[in-house]
Order: sequence, then C-alpha cells, then structure tokens
Amino acid sequence: MGEFEEQSAWGFETAAIHAGQEPDPTTGAVVTPISLSTTFAQDGVGNHKGYEYSRSGNPTRTAYETQVAALEGAAHGLAFSSGLAAEDNVLRLFAPGQRVLLGNDAYGGTYRLISKVHTQLPWSAVDLLDTAGLAASWPDDTALVWLETPTNPLLRCFDIEAIASLAHERGAMVVVDNTFATPFLQQPLALGADIVVHSATKYLGGHSDVVGGFLALDDADLADRLRFTQNAAGAVPAPFDCYLALRGVKTLAVRMERHCANARAVVDLLIGHPAVERVLYPQLPDHPGHAAAAKQMRDFGGMVSFTLRGGQAAALRVAAATELFTLGESLGAVESLIEHPGQMTHASAAGSPLEVPDNLLRLSVGIETAADLVADLQQALEQA
Ligand code: PLP
Repeated sequence: MGEFEEQSAWGFETAAIHAGQEPDPTTGAVVTPISLSTTFAQDGVGNHKGYEYSRSGNPTRTAYETQVAALEGAAHGLAFSSGLAAEDNVLRLFAPGQRVLLGNDAYGGTYRLISKVHTQLPWSAVDLLDTAGLAASWPDDTALVWLETPTNPLLRCFDIEAIASLAHERGAMVVVDNTFATPFLQQPLALGADIVVHSATKYLGGHSDVVGGFLALDDADLADRLRFTQNAAGAVPAPFDCYLALRGVKTLAVRMERHCANARAVVDLLIGHPAVERVLYPQLPDHPGHAAAAKQMRDFGGMVSFTLRGGQAAALRVAAATELFTLGESLGAVESLIEHPGQMTHASAAGSPLEVPDNLLRLSVGIETAADLVADLQQALEQA
C-alpha cells in the first residue's frame, strides 16, 4: 500500500495519532518537532527540500494540516492563526455582489465578519431548518451558503446533505463550520459540503491554550486558491501553536466521547429542574434539527444551552454562582465553562436577525467527573 492509501484506511483514532506524524527521519523523535526556523537552506536558487520561508510552509504546520485533513476525510488541509482568519480567507474567494446566505443562528464573530468587514458581499440570514422555504425564496445572486451545525449558541442542527444538494443545483458553494461537532462526530465533506471550517481554538486544540483556525476541502483548484491567500495575506499559525493543536487533536476521540457522556448527565439534571424553561440539546426529540443530527452525527456533542424561567436576571445569577463551570468565553476544552451569550460571545449580534434570547446560558461541558459537574449546576440553579 502507498502512504496515502495506508492513511485513508486507518480508523479515526489511528489517523489522529499517526497521520502526518511519522518519526523524525534524522533523529527518530516520536514527537513531531517544533520547527522554529523561519527560513530553510537551498542547495541552489530554487532548489530546496520543500520549504523556503515559514509563512509559506513549515514542517510542524504540514504535520498538523495533514493530521486534521485526514480526520475530515479531506484531500487538503490549511491551518490559520484563528478561526476568523480561516473564515476571512474563504470569504475572499468571492467577488463583490455575490451573496452569502447565513444560517440565522451562528457565532457572533462570523456574523460580524460577513456583515461588517466583507461589506462588498450582500448577505441574508435564512432559516436553514426550512429547506423547502429556502428553495422557494432562494436569491438569484447567492454564491455561498454558510452554516454551522450544531449552531452557536442555540445548537440547531441542519441537514448538510439536503442543503448541499439544494445549493449545488443552484450553483452555490457550501461551507460548514464544524467547530461544535468536530470530525469525530460529523464529516461534512462526505455529506456534500465544499469546505469545512474550524475554530481550532475549541475542541481540536481542546485545552484552552491555543487560538487557531482550519480549512479542510477536497477540490484541488479551490485549495490552490486558498493556499495562495493563506500565504499572500499571511494569517498563518506559529509553529508552537501548530504543535499545541496537533497534540490536542491526538486525543480528540476520547475527549469527545467523555464530553458527550457528561453533556447527557447535565441535560438529565436540567430537564427536570423547575428553574429551567427549555433545554437545548440535539439529542432531545423535540430539538430543532434533531432528525438531521441523528442522521449525520455519531453522537450529540458536549455543548448544552438552556433558558431560565426567571429571565436574564436569573441567568446572570446562575452564571455567577457556578464554581466548577468557569464563567468565560470560548468552549470545547477539557474544563467546563458557562457563559451568557447575549452579553458575551453574541453581543455583536444584538439588534440583528441573529440576536439571542437574554435568558439563555450556554455550557461547554468538560471532561471532569460527571457527578461533580451536576452537583455544581444544581447548587448554582438554587440562585435562579
Ligand atoms: N466558529 C465558531 C462556531 C466559533 O464558536 C468561533 C469562536 O468562538 C469561531 C468560529 C471563531 O474562531 P476563533 O475565535 O478561533 O477566531
């Protein structure tokens, strides 16, 4: 078997630990070295060993890009200095006047990037749960459908296969932000997406110690265009950041299994609690997009959102009262976090079609002992 065939035959966990990570040929080091060199010696002009200058390419970054591309089942992987930098590179593919359809629940920073930075691109917020309505009201100038599934923070799930086939019939591209699901739970390219986007800051890195972004895709021409912009605009991650993300991804499968199990324990507590108005979790049969999640995801993820009967004041009191769940932005790491999207991660969406309810709290359920997490939430909910 050739190297590529061997890697594509590997199971997920094997690829996470071995794809792009063969022992260093000169020293035998089992751990991918952090290549700090910014420049690489050439034998003659233009005669080099694959690397010239670290913005254009770096061995630690190559290992990490190969690893995550393998996990997404993608032919190409590109790493960036943040999730938003990766998103920015995708949006630069489009010409002024080409429309972006954005699911009406998404990360506030994605909304801000599309609506306030890429102002040359018209955009509309659409209900991606209603694919028939979407087909009927499809704007002719649409070039791109941008969806998160599950979404941040309402955890709505959209049918990637149905949306991709609708978009492709009409000549539009589909980008899926796979940050919440990760490739362990869901592989959008196999369902018809054109590009997968990640905030690697979240589950891929997994330890709240690195900011990063990632694009995975199959199309070689599109990958060439994105690689051009990755180098030309230069929002690349540092070698140490690539190393941290690569190390995090090695344990993605075992972390995700525990995140999902702990999330279920938390959901069980919240569902029966008198202070809680509604629990948002893709596994619940009445959850918006449950059927799509059950079809396209291996499990339902580590994110749980809920609304409080006592309104915003109760939500803020609960957020301040947890001890193990740290009050903070971000998500997807080993430690549990709680936040108030309306005033924190989604403040930039206030007054827009993506505004979130003010009695909403979002939990990133970590991999601590489930009973401790449940007990912490139980005591915090007494303040609601
Ligand atoms: N996509 C999602 C779903 C996010 O939650 C975030 C950040 O919270 C981003 C993209 C942006 O990523 P970054 O913060 O790494 O720039």
